[in-house]
Amino acid sequence: MRVHITLECTECHEQNYLSSKNRRNNPDRVELKKYCPRQHKVTLHKETK
Ligand SMILES: [Zn+2]
Repeated sequence: MRVHITLECTECHEQNYLSSKNRRNNPDRVELKKYCPRQHKVTLHKETK
């Protein structure tokens, strides 16, 4: 039941992380605080399609 997702920085829209999630636990787009190497700081990252 796990699907692969890409996490994109909401500030610079760089796709920084590949991840996976359980669709049953997270049916909506996941949002995570992650380090953005482009901005050298922690930003909110959202799942892209
Ligand atoms: Zn960024």
